[in-house]
Amino acid sequence: MKDLPRLNLGDLDWPRIFPFYIDSKFLGDGNKKWWACPLCDGEETFKLYSREKDPKGGWYCARCTKGGDGVALIHEVSGKSYREIFYELRTGNYNGGIPPEVARTVKPVIAKPEKSDAQKCLEMQAAWDGAGPVTLGSPVWIYLLSRIPGLQIEWLGKDVCYHPGMEYVDAWGKRQGKFPVMLLRARSSSGKPCRLHRTYLTGEGTKVPFLTRKGKSRAKLEMSAPDGSGGASILLNAARSRTLALVEGAETGFAVVARYRNKVEVRCMRNCGSLEQADIEWSDYDHIIIYADRDKVDPKRGYRPGEHSADILATHLRELGKRVSIPKAVVEGTDFRDVWELQYRRQQERLAAFEERRKLRNEVRERNRTQLRTSEQRSAA
Ligand SMILES: [Zn+2]
Repeated sequence: MKDLPRLNLGDLDWPRIFPFYIDSKFLGDGNKKWWACPLCDGEETFKLYSREKDPKGGWYCARCTKGGDGVALIHEVSGKSYREIFYELRTGNYNGGIPPEVARTVKPVIAKPEKSDAQKCLEMQAAWDGAGPVTLGSPVWIYLLSRIPGLQIEWLGKDVCYHPGMEYVDAWGKRQGKFPVMLLRARSSSGKPCRLHRTYLTGEGTKVPFLTRKGKSRAKLEMSAPDGSGGASILLNAARSRTLALVEGAETGFAVVARYRNKVEVRCMRNCGSLEQADIEWSDYDHIIIYADRDKVDPKRGYRPGEHSADILATHLRELGKRVSIPKAVVEGTDFRDVWELQYRRQQERLAAFEERRKLRNEVRERNRTQLRTSEQRSAA
């Protein structure tokens, strides 16, 4: 090895070297900022840095929170020793001269194995055990009230809980400390707990300020759950009824609870895709109201995803002999929470106007009465 040149990682042509070791699907295509990680299950969590940013073949995955130089990546993916990789890089005999098209088909070594279902269930149970009911004055209740006018605490179901402090790990894998959390538990049709949704809050009952790498709010996080739990739903309220309101998101759901003053059972699905695969005991209900968000038309598919999923589910339910209604938001991009906020405000305004008129009437009546009394007194005198 004495005769070999000293290796300067910054001088290497990494875009040319990586394909000898790593399947092309993990190398990005120039269009995406983030793509699938060769080391974990992350689908849009991995990136290679450009030469300008990191000439040493830098990479990073936000899910497995690993990163490093090109040698480290080849080591993680191929399982080859550093010694061997350095030797190949020095000699230019990449991957022992195995041509890229052969090397590419090599299945990457999974450096960090995915958690087992049993492990995921244990972690969810531990989180749930640390939670209790939502109390007045808790950050969860302050948050809910700020979002859902007219909601009442006694309407909340048992699967809506308050955890006083769960660790928050940000989009870059950094621990940010413990925060209060609204925990929502989803169950399958048989009642088995399947998923836990977390909304991280501040002590003042606002969403934590942490963002995704794209700059969107990152306060709502799901705990990793066993496969096949996508159809589970969260019973948001304490009502039982033969009418079920089915919604896409928890806040829409709480707005529906407030709208019906808890007279109707409300379940929340993870998203519009899961509406189609809803795993719910339909025999419990006669009438199902599906609140679909009015998403923008998806240009690739040519329809609004929320409405489309609702229609598919509705067809299935009608075949089962159920009555189905789909109230649709008129304005694009609004959901029922927005609608309810407006309705509630108008309701309050009407109540206030009514109260104002009543007061005015009473005042007039009182004045008339006083006048009458005074004139009676005068005439008596
Ligand atoms: Zn990863």
